[in-house]
Amino acid sequence: TIGALAIDAKGHIAGACTTSGAAYKMHGRVGDSPLIGAGLFVDGEIGAACATGLGEAVIRTAGSAMVVEHMRNGKSPAEACEMAVQRIMHTHKNKMENLQVGFIAINKDGEYGGFSIRNGFNFAVVDTAKGNRMEDAEFKI
Ligand code: ASP
Repeated sequence: TIGALAIDAKGHIAGACTTSGAAYKMHGRVGDSPLIGAGLFVDGEIGAACATGLGEAVIRTAGSAMVVEHMRNGKSPAEACEMAVQRIMHTHKNKMENLQVGFIAINKDGEYGGFSIRNGFNFAVVDTAKGNRMEDAEFKI
């Protein structure tokens, strides 16, 4: 998945995502990326989140909507992403082998973060004030 979340100088938030889908997918499979609330969710009052990884796991938990709801309840973007990852790990506790899901999120204050189940998930930050950079998402395993 390629996910992009943006905030402008006036605090307007936007998000978009695209995906290659899953390898050897069944014909007609719909992943999480085209499903609002699963692969992407934007709430102009709160923030936005986007997911990558096993789409079925993200769909079952309405993952990106969950991240935004955690931010609504006061969590930072990174904390909110971690909570959604924890939820997916709990749901999949008996089938964790090779499972990878990651989220990025941004809030109305321009704070952002990312969290994934496994190491190796990074994201680009385009920042007109401090410069562009790559950052590693925090991870559980
Ligand atoms: N989330 C995508 C899917 O399951 C896979 C990806 O990360 O590109 O369709």
